[in-house]
Amino acid sequence: MQQTKVAIVGSGPSGYTAGIYAGRASLQPILFAGEKSGGQLMFTTDIENYPGFANGKNGPELMMEMRAQAERFGTQIKDQYVTGLDLSARPFKLWTHFPEGFTGEALENGKPEELEAFQTKLKAEPHDVEAESVILTVGAHSKMLGVPGELEFLGRGVSTCAVCDAAFYREKNTIVVGGGDTAMEDTLALTKFAASVLVLVRGEKMRASKVMQERVMQHPKVKILYNMTLGEVRGEGVVKEVELLNTQTQAKSVQPIDGVFIAIGHVPMTYVFGKQLQLDGHGYIVTRQSPGKEGVEMARAAINAEGRVSFPTMTSVEGVFAAGDVVDTRYWQAVTAAGQGCSAAIDAERWLEGR
Ligand code: NDP
Repeated sequence: MQQTKVAIVGSGPSGYTAGIYAGRASLQPILFAGEKSGGQLMFTTDIENYPGFANGKNGPELMMEMRAQAERFGTQIKDQYVTGLDLSARPFKLWTHFPEGFTGEALENGKPEELEAFQTKLKAEPHDVEAESVILTVGAHSKMLGVPGELEFLGRGVSTCAVCDAAFYREKNTIVVGGGDTAMEDTLALTKFAASVLVLVRGEKMRASKVMQERVMQHPKVKILYNMTLGEVRGEGVVKEVELLNTQTQAKSVQPIDGVFIAIGHVPMTYVFGKQLQLDGHGYIVTRQSPGKEGVEMARAAINAEGRVSFPTMTSVEGVFAAGDVVDTRYWQAVTAAGQGCSAAIDAERWLEGR
């Protein structure tokens, strides 16, 4: 069994940045990167809004450089999943193996009862790591439609982030799927570049806030189709057309298109430890700097003698910190995730020092 002062769980920009800072603080952290390390940026092509790269930077390359930078300062990176966590007492216990009969699939696609069985079996076995503090940077994944072609063309005409990719669609025709605030924001981001934006709402009305809906509806480049979704994404190398599917009549039609933006929500990856921490209504981890009322209450309870919130990235469990998309319901950017990872590592270092 290994012991560490800091275990970092997750390997996107927030995890690697936490690794860089905790490594430089001589905490010799162990970072569990998962079997598919690097997070969501591994599925992007060019990132044009990460500061320091005037000509853009390839997403997977940026992640590999962050990883190398964390390793340079002594962070031990393991390409393993954390399959179980016990946060009930310190040192915290981590499991990194799969119980017999289970694979990574049970974690990624597991149904709740399957996950329950997985966790019960796992926790009857000895744990693999003990950590004095934990930084959770496990991210969130964008919900996908699950239609043919969607994953095949991800990064080649299909995107889950218009703020990141809208500029690639100058004078192009685009589609946004979804009727929530994310879809509205994506639509407005696209109107700055694209020739047209077709919004597909699967029901009879949108879920987005009124003000956002109005802004979108009034925009001359936008057309909204209700009771409509995607049946398939097709192309050759890049996206060329989609099949539109009427959700009421099941009628299908073909629409030539250059870009498809899937904006139907995010799923924070909290299934391994979610019940042990306070989460918000959408399943995101609440910290003392979360913008919702739960975060504000947590911050109030953590005001120190100097009138400041102590350890803003701490979760509802003392010694457990969280950063990046698993706490972020607002920004979802590589640079904000990296910044939060830095904050979490500094908080963990100061908290460890204070003990
Ligand atoms: P939401 O859950 O609010 O909306 C998801 C949308 O996608 C709904 O219109 C939903 O349809 C649709 N949808 C879901 N699954 C499918 C599917 N399989 N096929 C087709 N359509 C589907 O998610 P958001 O990401 O938009 O927002 C999450 C939270 O973040 C919200 O609280 C939102 O207000 C907040 N947010 C705030 C922003 C801001 O303040 N600037 C910006 C972005 C988000 P249906 O309604 O039929 O279920």
